Amino acid sequence: MPEKVVIIGSGPAGWSAAIYAARANLSPLLIEGTARTDVQMIPLGQLAYTTEVENYPGFPFGNIRAFVESAVDQDRHYNLPPIPNHPKEKRKRNSMADISPHYAVQGIELMELMKQQAINFETRIVSDDAVDIDVSRNVKKVMLKNGDPVETHTIIIATGARANWLGLDSEEMYKNKGVSACAVCDGALPVFYGKPLAVVGGGDSAVEEATYLANLKGANKIYMIVRRDEFRASKIMADRALNHPKIEVLWNSTVDEVVGNEETDLVSGLKIKNSKDGSVSDLEVGGMFVAIGHTPNTDFLSGKLEMNEAGYIQWTKPFRTNTSAVGVYAAGDVADDYYRQAITSAGTGCMAALDVERYLADEGIE
Ligand SMILES: Cc1cc2nc3c(=O)[nH]c(=O)nc-3n(C[C@H](O)[C@H](O)[C@H](O)COP(=O)(O)OP(=O)(O)OC[C@H]3O[C@@H](n4cnc5c(N)ncnc54)[C@H](O)[C@@H]3O)c2cc1C
Repeated sequence: MPEKVVIIGSGPAGWSAAIYAARANLSPLLIEGTARTDVQMIPLGQLAYTTEVENYPGFPFGNIRAFVESAVDQDRHYNLPPIPNHPKEKRKRNSMADISPHYAVQGIELMELMKQQAINFETRIVSDDAVDIDVSRNVKKVMLKNGDPVETHTIIIATGARANWLGLDSEEMYKNKGVSACAVCDGALPVFYGKPLAVVGGGDSAVEEATYLANLKGANKIYMIVRRDEFRASKIMADRALNHPKIEVLWNSTVDEVVGNEETDLVSGLKIKNSKDGSVSDLEVGGMFVAIGHTPNTDFLSGKLEMNEAGYIQWTKPFRTNTSAVGVYAAGDVADDYYRQAITSAGTGCMAALDVERYLADEGIE
């Protein structure tokens, strides 16, 4: 018997789709992926790479660890991160946090909770990667890396995207310690408050990130590090950066090294290389936001579904998660190069499960 729905991907989109599908008695099978260092991917999605998540509704500051431990199956507690030891001034922001050892929900905790919620409704999980799909017939196939095919009436693709990084060792060393790839996610964290910051990149999204940071309460100076002597961004976006009093553009510049403060173990500056004369100078900043694009995880779908030129799956109907193949739906960052947030991914995951439910009902598949 084919599955009713196979969900590929284990980020917020995948688990939300699973929760909705499971509660609609569709008995979903979720392929969660494996740890792949070649492409910086791990099960539980991009949030598994981050520390505090302050903007996911329902998780204000507080002693969240006690709740997480009570909710998540004991055999996965090993996956929970150590409780962060926050400096006192960070806790002043909320009196609840003063009595709590915990500041905000950690990315892995949030994802383990989503996974648990899906398991509680009997989602079945396969710990493998999907390497191919066949959508040429009514009953579709998902091929696993272990060679097994899974037959299914519908598929939800929720394989996400990954941020592109500069590839410096020092950048890797200071991720979550002042290096980020998402201003909307991390810009308001106390670690960046009132400090000069750098945004690397010259495209539209780099300008978006820079202006977002420049407009935050407590924003200091925002340096844009641009490789060429002009923006790749559209004129209207470029003007937005050039006319912003808090943004300064460093043209013909690349980051040679991220420098940290030994005492705080946080970013304290960058070594900037001038591509014209090769000179290297110091730039004092408290954070670096890399905004040089994302890569959607769609390699294994090549030629099977309509995608845009950057490889994101195209939704084919407004306000629906349909793709170009009947019975195949897409949710989360894999189809969204614009919002790229956990909450929007979870939202489209829910939509995809509802779209599947209605498709199966219309087809008379029980
Ligand atoms: C460092 C960092 C911090 C962030 N902080 C925030 C924040 O504070 N708030 C916020 O809202 N957003 C934040 N984001 C963005 C947020 O993480 C993403 O928008 C969200 O995770 C996207 O969810 P998703 O389910 O679409 O995909 P992802 O989270 O990308 O998950 C996709 C999953 O699919 C798996 N997968 C991929 N290919 C396959 C395959 N072939 N077979 C099986 N599995 C596969 C991957 O291993 C991965 O686990 C952050 C992102 C990063 C990188």
